[in-house]
Amino acid sequence: MAIRVLIAEDEILIARKIEQTLKRAGYEVVGIATDGEAALQKVSETAPNLVLMDIVMPGELDGVETAQIIRDRFRVPVVYLTAYADRETLERAKITLPFGYVLKPFEERELTIAVEIALSRHQIECELQAMLDKSKGLSQQNETSQTLKSEYISYISHEFRNPLAAIASSAELLQAYHNHLNEDKRQKHFERINSAVSAINQLLEDIVILESSESSAVLLAPRPLNIVEFCQDLIDSLQFSIGQSHILQFTHQSTCETLVLDEKMLWQILSNLLTNAIKYSPIGETIKLETSCETHKFICQICDRGIGIPPECQTHLFEPFYRATNAKKRPGTGLGLTIVKRAVDLLKGEISINSTIGVGTTVCVTLPLIADPPPSV
Ligand code: ATP
Ligand code: MG
Repeated sequence: MAIRVLIAEDEILIARKIEQTLKRAGYEVVGIATDGEAALQKVSETAPNLVLMDIVMPGELDGVETAQIIRDRFRVPVVYLTAYADRETLERAKITLPFGYVLKPFEERELTIAVEIALSRHQIECELQAMLDKSKGLSQQNETSQTLKSEYISYISHEFRNPLAAIASSAELLQAYHNHLNEDKRQKHFERINSAVSAINQLLEDIVILESSESSAVLLAPRPLNIVEFCQDLIDSLQFSIGQSHILQFTHQSTCETLVLDEKMLWQILSNLLTNAIKYSPIGETIKLETSCETHKFICQICDRGIGIPPECQTHLFEPFYRATNAKKRPGTGLGLTIVKRAVDLLKGEISINSTIGVGTTVCVTLPLIADPPPSV
């Protein structure tokens, strides 16, 4: 494609001569402008690769002012064409960082050489700018991920500190006052140590899951699963661990029972969502898990009548360590929903949360079904 040049020159005879010279050299002339305003108009209409600009032109804008605007607004290289070369004009022209000067009267060769030099300089500048932008972007990305990493580390250290402090103080008390503590008190300290250890274990497990789901190395293992038995087992084990504090109800609405799904991922998703429903609902409430199937889809809904989530917090729920403003009194790290979202993404499913303060929360997860499990190796 020919290089497109705009000529800004008020003397039409000279403009025609330049046009012929450029055409002979293989360039396309996209227009001739006879003053600054017309030049700006033509640049915006024809998007030339280069402008040849006379410095002295009639009208509001002279060549130097027009060149400045073209450079700032359109980033098109400008070569000055001028019979005037007095110091003041040249100083003003210099500020606009022109890509070249051609003094009138000019030889054909002089003009084409100036145009070629200007175009290649402009191209080099563009490439350098692109490289600069790219490296700026990369270093910004690096900085952001460094900041995130250090925030992540300081948060995790903080989360470990509490249970570790509990273990240290109970162990110290047991060691120093073992003989002075009655059996009841001793048991309380042992329980405190045990629950702190499980909190640390849970946290470690969450971090490992998060890290592994972030790397591409997660191996999914879809296999035929009796979904009714699977969900009932999960509900029974959760009900056993919470005792009578809440009632867990499970219903499966379709006739499909055996589905090809990744059992571990599904366990992660449902156990985290059910644990949330329990944790954020008043004692005695019923939590419902409803599952069903549609063509190539498995749908599960976890529904509670708990504290709900403030609307302004709802967009942040999948961010690591995020906890809604009304949840801070209940224990938690804010990693559960991040893990759920990663698992849903890995399974190429979708998750939506519908929640109203004081009314309750319904989480709906839809997972695509694989027709057949991959052949075992
Ligand atoms: P953990 O890492 O132990 O799961 P968490 O429960 O605080 O801690 P997430 O499961 O990630 O963290 O949930 C993030 C936040 O979303 C919670 O802190 C809570 O504010 C809100 N939330 C999640 N589920 C519910 C729910 N069913 N009802 C009300 N708020 C909820
Ligand atoms: Mg949770």
